[in-house]
Amino acid sequence: TARVIDGKAVARRVREEVAAGVAELVAAGGTAPGLATVLVGDDPASEVYVRNKRRLSVEAGMRDLHRHLPADAGQETVAALVDELAADPAVSGILLQLPLPAHLDADALVARIPAAKDVDGLTTDNAGLLAQGRPGLRPCTPAGVMALLDEYEVPLAGAEAVVVGRSVLVGRPMAQLLLARDATVTICHSRTRDLAEVCRRADVLVVAAGIPGLVGADAVKPGAVVVDVGIHRGEDGLRGDVDHDPAAEVAGALTPVPGGVGPMTIAMLLANTLAAARAQQDVEQGAEQGVEQEVPREV
Ligand code: NAD
Repeated sequence: TARVIDGKAVARRVREEVAAGVAELVAAGGTAPGLATVLVGDDPASEVYVRNKRRLSVEAGMRDLHRHLPADAGQETVAALVDELAADPAVSGILLQLPLPAHLDADALVARIPAAKDVDGLTTDNAGLLAQGRPGLRPCTPAGVMALLDEYEVPLAGAEAVVVGRSVLVGRPMAQLLLARDATVTICHSRTRDLAEVCRRADVLVVAAGIPGLVGADAVKPGAVVVDVGIHRGEDGLRGDVDHDPAAEVAGALTPVPGGVGPMTIAMLLANTLAAARAQQDVEQGAEQGVEQEVPREV
């Protein structure tokens, strides 16, 4: 049965490293990184996510610069807030909590975040840097998956990697990050024919489709490393996109839900915020945070 990839433990360690980095930055005469989470409205799931991000950023020694706008805030109002945070030197990172209320144009608002403060890695600039294999702030969830793969010393160069999902937030950047580490990457999506057959090629299988239990044991190559990004709230707790117990009989290693990728996302947000603060304060960068580790080696 598969080895359990313990995201909770790795995330705790990353957060401790970030806290040490923050202390070091402050000791070197810098200022503590400031994270501006922006919540528009009061979607309960978003409130929980933002609360956790704020709590853990404060635990890591950062300044909590949270801003809350009412659900009926207009495009102009939110844009003005993003512009204000963009111009504020106390703000190292801006996190616009998505989804936004439907009357707002989220893309236009994300586009106002300066790339240097885009700690979610969602701007076109940062996506372009990633696509070109150049340094930049990476989206937190796929960056967290890479940190887990590295922690468990999963070989990537030349490996067959299959990513299920092609969202801007997860699937696409995930594929780019694996590519930057010289994996042979296949991307599956809603129009893929015979998903299980393609997945069975994978030495490393990352599933971010948003469909509970989509990937079963028949889609897992014996011994493969399987990373389940999906999160679904059911009556009997959380579950992922992978049909966990049967898949665990076949896989070599597997992330649980909860306790796999989920905790890594916030840990990487904190790592990004520290990296952003360092870059803005022109303090020498540490290499240990995992945000700029991947290096394209060859064409
Ligand atoms: P999304 O809905 O934006 O994208 C889903 C992708 O899956 C699409 O690209 C689609 O083409 C693909 N897909 C849909 N049905 C498919 C099928 N039958 N076969 C193959 N591919 C299919 O979702 P997302 O934002 O990428 O998130 C995916 C999942 O990850 C969700 O469950 C979400 O809750 C979860 N998530 C978790 C974290 C975390 O921190 N763990 C972070 C972000 C998202």
